Amino acid sequence: MSLDFGPATALSCRECGARYPLGPNFACVECFGPLEAAYDFGDVKRSDIESGPASIWRYRSLLPVPADVASKPNMNPGWTPLVKAGNLGRALGLKSLYVKDDSGNPTHSFKDRVVAIAVEAARNFGFHTLSCSSTGNLAGAVTAAAARAGLDACVFIPAGLEQAKIAMARVFGGRLIGIEGTYDEVNRFCSELIGDPMGDKWGFVNVNLRPYYAEGSKTLAYEIAEQLGWRLPEQIVIPIASGSQLTKIDKGFKELIRLGLVDDAPYKVFGAQALGCSPVSAAYKAGHDVVQPVKPDTIAKSLAIGNPADGPYVLDIARRTGGAVEDVTDAEIVAAIKLLASTEGIFAETAGGVTVGVLKKLVETGQLDPEAETVVLNTGDGLKTLDAVAADAQPTAVIRPSLDAFRATV
Ligand SMILES: *Cc1c(COP(=O)(O)O)cnc(C)c1O
Ligand SMILES: [Zn+2]
Repeated sequence: MSLDFGPATALSCRECGARYPLGPNFACVECFGPLEAAYDFGDVKRSDIESGPASIWRYRSLLPVPADVASKPNMNPGWTPLVKAGNLGRALGLKSLYVKDDSGNPTHSFKDRVVAIAVEAARNFGFHTLSCSSTGNLAGAVTAAAARAGLDACVFIPAGLEQAKIAMARVFGGRLIGIEGTYDEVNRFCSELIGDPMGDKWGFVNVNLRPYYAEGSKTLAYEIAEQLGWRLPEQIVIPIASGSQLTKIDKGFKELIRLGLVDDAPYKVFGAQALGCSPVSAAYKAGHDVVQPVKPDTIAKSLAIGNPADGPYVLDIARRTGGAVEDVTDAEIVAAIKLLASTEGIFAETAGGVTVGVLKKLVETGQLDPEAETVVLNTGDGLKTLDAVAADAQPTAVIRPSLDAFRATV
């Protein structure tokens, strides 16, 4: 089997630095630390990126994928808009605010980015079945990508997810298995399945393919920098489920600096959680560097991971960059969804309510500088979490079709 991971040359342990050949492995045998892709980047030029496709593949020279990746059947995610959010900025008292709106990806969440990289790893390792443990969005991203790539899919979710996410995951075919339990129990089950002959030849995008999958989140960092005219934002607000996305956005910014693609300027990373699943923000506020697992209870189901694998790294990054980790209640999430929609015309899923709600709270509590350029992420589409705005699922008034009736209501 000859592997082609483009510029990626090895896996390295985040904890002890031990190096391993590229393989479907995710934990260090020396210290059990997480493995991540290590690279030998060539000379990467802005102009080469700028002349690339309008998808994450414009950054293929920075990702663990072969050079011809864009020509294979894939979902072509990414290159989503960075919206200058003047109205929301004014409402919150921020001088310069952008929304990185990832709801327009092929399956309407940021997960298409990470899955696209994992599909290349599955192809490299000869896996014919794609799998995952999902809080909702990942399941649909995996079944869709499998359909297009001609792979089988069998994905696992906690029973009791939003209807739209279940239907979205099933419509693409494959098997969708609901597990009676939380996401953390689903994830533990998948780890067991990998050790069993039933699952040991499967590519679990966020388990045995995690070192590759996770790299997909770096593309958010690259796009934001390029869309700002090749510079870094001063502050960024990122949602936390497992903490992978936040960790890899920081990695992406650091790579851009190291490669000379942007100036070396400081940036502050802020993490956002729902209060009903806030183990990282609780640790941040308590000054701890270990994260105590919790049992999630929040409408932000896509972020409902009670035992986030990358929690300690998130704490590190928030503290090192001068950011923070904050949380908001379910009521604040709903209010933030409506605020974003009514100021910018962007309908976010509950995860976007979490980031915008946290942004508001960070400004109000003085943790974020209102004068500094700020980017807030919306990672999913509001049509997937309609229950959050169920109270608004009716007209403002129902009248007879007559001018008199209308006059009486306005
Ligand atoms: C999965 C997901 C995230 C982030 O997940 P991480 O595990 O922290 O990388 C953010 N927003 C949405 C909508 C998601 O589905
Ligand atoms: Zn190690």
